[in-house]
Amino acid sequence: MKKHIILYCFGFVLLACNQNAQNESKTLLVENKQKEPILPEATEIWEPKPRVVSVDASSKIPSDALVLFDGSDFNEWISATDSTTVNWNLNSDKSMTVKDRAGDVQTKKNFGSVQLHIEWRSSKEIRANGQNRSNSGVFFQNRYEVQILDNNNNDTYVNGQVGAIYKQAIPLVKASSETGNWNSYDIIYHAPKFNSEDKIVASATITVLHNGVLIQDHVTIKGTTEYIGWPKNKAHGKAPIKLQDHGDNSGVSYRNIWVREL
Ligand code: MG
Repeated sequence: MKKHIILYCFGFVLLACNQNAQNESKTLLVENKQKEPILPEATEIWEPKPRVVSVDASSKIPSDALVLFDGSDFNEWISATDSTTVNWNLNSDKSMTVKDRAGDVQTKKNFGSVQLHIEWRSSKEIRANGQNRSNSGVFFQNRYEVQILDNNNNDTYVNGQVGAIYKQAIPLVKASSETGNWNSYDIIYHAPKFNSEDKIVASATITVLHNGVLIQDHVTIKGTTEYIGWPKNKAHGKAPIKLQDHGDNSGVSYRNIWVREL
């Protein structure tokens, strides 16, 4: 019994000492904080300074953007079929319209990661249904399609509807303008990365705003956007941006296209 009492007392003394040590440590921390307060400047970063970009008040085009189409000509574009001059229709309202079965068109320049602004309009006249109603598309690096389609009162598979990453990613919402009216896409596209053995090490990602509404939120692109079969990931470098002639008298028009390389 006596032995138990001694052990109990000893334990109590140890506990009390430990508590005192913790209290002293806390006091020390508080004192240190008071003696060496962290100043706001300690977490400020001043370099490197971001480049200055201005935005044109009327066109809304950033000063560092490359204008791919302003309605004047097809100077930045070639036929994707045979690299010859584009023979889509150039309109008096500063737009261009897909010429049926004239083939896709693509930029002369190759691109990797970009911010792209593009405006498009479906045909006012309803000519077909499903995937054949004003079908076109914007392809990044000649491989990855953001779908363009007149989906108004026109159902189709949802991973192929307007704003889909074709057959891969369903848009969060459908934000289409009325049939025959202009739409805008603002797209942030990050190119995939491949290693020295041509294996993919980072998939492409994409964010899309349709008429200012977020419809693809930093989505991973699984590979090429195939009509039949699964996505493929063969290594590639920079490549053109392509606009689709779906070959069904789509009547899709484009205007005001500019790009910023990222
Ligand atoms: Mg398409």
